[in-house]
Amino acid sequence: MRLPRRTLLLSFPILTLSLFVFFGGIGSAEKETVKTQGGKKALKALLVTGGGYHDYKKQKTILTEGISKRAAVEWDVFMGDAKQTKEKLSEKGWADGYDVIVYNLCHAHETDGNFVEGLSKVHHEGKAAVVIHCSMHSYHWKIPGETKHWPAVLGVTSPRHGAKSPIEVSNLAKDHAIMKSFPGKWTTPQGELYHIDKVWPTATVLAKGTIDGGKKFHDCVWINTYGKGRVFGTTLGHHNETMSAETYLDMVSRGLLWVTGRLK
Ligand SMILES: [Zn+2]
Repeated sequence: MRLPRRTLLLSFPILTLSLFVFFGGIGSAEKETVKTQGGKKALKALLVTGGGYHDYKKQKTILTEGISKRAAVEWDVFMGDAKQTKEKLSEKGWADGYDVIVYNLCHAHETDGNFVEGLSKVHHEGKAAVVIHCSMHSYHWKIPGETKHWPAVLGVTSPRHGAKSPIEVSNLAKDHAIMKSFPGKWTTPQGELYHIDKVWPTATVLAKGTIDGGKKFHDCVWINTYGKGRVFGTTLGHHNETMSAETYLDMVSRGLLWVTGRLK
């Protein structure tokens, strides 16, 4: 069947848009939408992921599907290497239209302080964020000078991590909305506990973890306020097994709802 000329003209931009959504526009970077269920107006979230040492390809599915089973959240996913991610997060208005940005990335070698300052400004002006695991080792190790914008966004400064081992997590905030349903103690299936050298004054620690039976603890779950933006952070989540655990996905989902004002 031949389509009328007007239909052909209309369908061309729609086809072009679909190709961009499914194949990505820049290098190997991906952008895709995961549908959510539920009647109430869904939150719009952008997951920014990618980098070395972690199975981000599987984790993007674990996180988006796991959270959307628990909360009405619609996703866009951007997965790229350090250069692609920097280009994306430098675009004008890249975060517009999103209720929350979720970072699960590992770009530790960034040296461009202006880029990180610009990225941090988005959150200072009020954009909510969830920051996971190697996000705490990104965007500050190699930034020259004393100005550390990204750790101020995160609410903690982490210089290193310990050996791979399950982590015994202690809930320090059973009365907080995020941690109400979290067990008093929970041992992760596997783990890589980050060392936290500094908790910023704007942050509140919600849980701490140990891998040596309590000789040494490191804070591993917290909330932060950065300017007008709310942040939920956890260093837990190196392994897919941990990230897939019900306890983990419940906690991160509640953190996401809290930073967007949906959890009182
Ligand atoms: Zn890791």
